Amino acid sequence: MKLHIQNNFTSELPADLNENNVPRQVEKACFSYVLPKQPSNPSLIHASQEVAEFIGLSQKDIQSADFLNVFSGNTVYPGTKPYAMPYAGHQFGNWAGQLGDGRAINLTEVEHKGKSFTLQLKGAGPTPYSRTADGFAVLRSSIREHLCAEAMHYLGVPTTRSLSLIESGDQVLRDILYNGNPAYEKGAIVCRVAPSFIRFGNFELFSSRNDLPTLKLLADYTIKHHFPDIKTEGVEKYIEFFQTITKTTLDMIVHWQRVGFVHGVMNTDNMSIHGITIDYGPYGWLEDYDVNWTPNTTDRQHKRYRFGNQPNIALWNLYQLANALYPLVNDAKPLEEILNGFATDYKVKYLDMMRNKLGFKIAKDEDAVLIESLTELLQLAETDMTIFFRNLGNVLKSDSGATAFDKIKEAFYNEKGLEESVLNNWNTWLGYYIGRINQETFSDDERKKLMNAVNPKYVLRNYMAQLCIDAADKGDYSLLNELYELLKRPYDEQPESQKWFTKRPDWARDKVGCSMLSCSS
Ligand code: AMP
Ligand code: MG
Repeated sequence: MKLHIQNNFTSELPADLNENNVPRQVEKACFSYVLPKQPSNPSLIHASQEVAEFIGLSQKDIQSADFLNVFSGNTVYPGTKPYAMPYAGHQFGNWAGQLGDGRAINLTEVEHKGKSFTLQLKGAGPTPYSRTADGFAVLRSSIREHLCAEAMHYLGVPTTRSLSLIESGDQVLRDILYNGNPAYEKGAIVCRVAPSFIRFGNFELFSSRNDLPTLKLLADYTIKHHFPDIKTEGVEKYIEFFQTITKTTLDMIVHWQRVGFVHGVMNTDNMSIHGITIDYGPYGWLEDYDVNWTPNTTDRQHKRYRFGNQPNIALWNLYQLANALYPLVNDAKPLEEILNGFATDYKVKYLDMMRNKLGFKIAKDEDAVLIESLTELLQLAETDMTIFFRNLGNVLKSDSGATAFDKIKEAFYNEKGLEESVLNNWNTWLGYYIGRINQETFSDDERKKLMNAVNPKYVLRNYMAQLCIDAADKGDYSLLNELYELLKRPYDEQPESQKWFTKRPDWARDKVGCSMLSCSS
C-alpha cells in the first residue's frame, strides 16, 4: 500500500512541545503529536472503494494487511507522525473553552491527482484533548458515521467522507441514555477523509486566549492551502476568507433542508471551515415533516438544533467565527455586512431549492406563498417528507386535486385517513400546484426527471441505521453492505429495494436509536 504523503500542517504550524499523552490545556500550538492506541484484534468491516481511489488506493490495497493496520491505528505509516488538534467551541450556545480532537487522530495528509486530503481516525484512543472521556468510539456510532457520511455524499450534500469502518476487538463502556446503566459495547474505528478537519472552533480557541500570533498563523495557513482562490492580501484576505465560509456554510444548510437532514449537535466545534457536514453524532432524518424535530435527547428541552432552526444556528455560529477572526480584521463593519447578507441570501437559495423540489423552472413571486403554505400543510397531519416529495413528481398537468391526492396519499402516517378540513386544504393546495405546473413549459416527464434529481427516493432513515446496527452487533454485516449500496444511488428507482421506500414502521416511532439518540457514542 503506497500513499503519497504530505505533512504540510505539522511542518508549517507550531507543535505542542509536550508529547505526554495526558489531558491538559495546550497553549500556542496547533497540534499535539499522539499515537493511536493499538487495537487488540482489528478486523475490517467495510471500506469505501471510491474514497480509497480518491486517495490513490486500489481494491487490492483495501484487502491488504497494511490497510487494516494503518487504518485501525495498529501501525503508523512510514514517514508520518499522527497528531490531534486543539479547538474550542460554543456548545448549545455556551462557551465551552478548550475541547479538541478528543477521540480523533489525524494520521497524515495525502496527495492524489492534484488534490490533497487529511486522513483522520475517529475512536483510536485518547489524546491530550480527551478531557475525562476515553478516546474510543462504539460500533453503533461508527456505523452511523460511516454510512451517513457516504450517503450524504451521494445525495450531493457537502460532507467529510468515510474510508473505512474497522472493529477494534476491544470493549468500550457507554451509558447510552446517561441514566446510570453503563454497558460494554463493541469498539470501532472510522477513517474519515476531508480536505482538512479545521473547524470554527480552531480559530475560536486562539482568539479567546488573545493568542493573535497563532491565530494569524492558522488563518494564513488555512487560506494558503485550502482557499487558493483568495488572492487578496492583508485584512482583505481574512474578510474574503470569512465570506467564503459563510457562503459554503449556507449552501450546506440549504442541502440539509432539501433532504431532511438534522445534524443534532451544531456546536461551533462541529462546524467545518470547508462548509462540509462533519461529526455524525446524534443526527437524524425527518420522517414526518416536522420543523421542530431534533433527534438529540440532550437537546430535548430547548430543541436548539431542531430542523427548522438549522439556518439560524448556522448564522449564530458564523457570528462566533466572525468574533474569532475579528482581531485579524480590526473592523467589525465588513464582517457584519457579510453576516447581514446571510438571511437574505438564505431566503433566495431556500426558495430556489424548494422550487426545484416542486419542479418549477420559472421563478414566480407567488411561489413563496405556495411553498410556505405547503410547509404548513405538511405539518397538519404526519406526512413523510421523502415519500411526499418523491411522489409529487408523479402528479400530471392534467390531474385534478383528487387524482393528484391519490398519488401522494401514501405519504400520510394516519392509516385512518385525514380529517376532512386537512383533506380540503390538500385539495386546494394541489389545485394551485397543478395550475402552477401548467405555467411551466416542460412536459410531465421532464418535470418528473428534474424533481427526481433533487428529491431522493432513499435516505438513511433512522430505523434503517438501527436495524443495521442490531444486525452488526450480532456479527451480521449483510444489511450494512446492502444499505451502503442502496444509498450510493439515492435518486434512482431501484425497484428491487422498494421496501426501503416506506414510512417509518410503528415500532421505531419512539425507540432509542431510531428517533432518540444521545451524544454518548
Ligand atoms: P461531540 O459532541 O461529539 O462533537 O464532542 C465534543 C467534544 O468531546 C470533542 O472535543 C470530542 O473530541 C470530545 N469527545 C466526544 N466523545 C469523546 C470520547 N469518547 N473520548 C474523548 N473525547 C470525546
Ligand atoms: Mg465534535
